[in-house]
Amino acid sequence: MSAVPVTPSVPWTVSHARTTSGGTAETLVLVGLILQVLGGALVIGGLTWFFGYSAFHPFPFLWAAIIGGVVVSAIVVLFLYFAYTLSYQRIRRGEYEAARTPTLVIGILSLFAGLIPGILYLIGYAKLDSAVREQQSSATGYAAFTPGSLVACKGCGRVYPIGHSAFCPACGQKMAA
Ligand SMILES: [Zn+2]
Repeated sequence: MSAVPVTPSVPWTVSHARTTSGGTAETLVLVGLILQVLGGALVIGGLTWFFGYSAFHPFPFLWAAIIGGVVVSAIVVLFLYFAYTLSYQRIRRGEYEAARTPTLVIGILSLFAGLIPGILYLIGYAKLDSAVREQQSSATGYAAFTPGSLVACKGCGRVYPIGHSAFCPACGQKMAA
């Protein structure tokens, strides 16, 4: 028999606990995303209308315009896809730490395409910072309540952290030191 070193581990459910700030960040990013989807639909719709129009009123640089339009549409769709998967979905899963950098990058890039969604992402990014801290403190709180640091009352069996009080608050029995 050899002693296996036990590293205190925090369960996934606690390390990915959803926090109040995380919920705010989720809402902000969702609204930013919806605004961008609407904006993207307008851009792609406008381009489609323009190409439909130019089919009846051809002009010399149509092919260049079509290629430009397809590239712009592809960038819009890719951008929205990354914003959804790397920022919004991670926030929803409570992966605030992983969502931070993508949310910041998407927020800065969004400022060039539309001010309001960009600002929403950046406030969401600031909220993610608080969310990560809240998650860490709840994880630390959990670690403080591992069985080794708990003591059961001999009188009523209620469990308290060691050093919680000299006497059991429930039944008054003297607690073990
Ligand atoms: Zn007791």
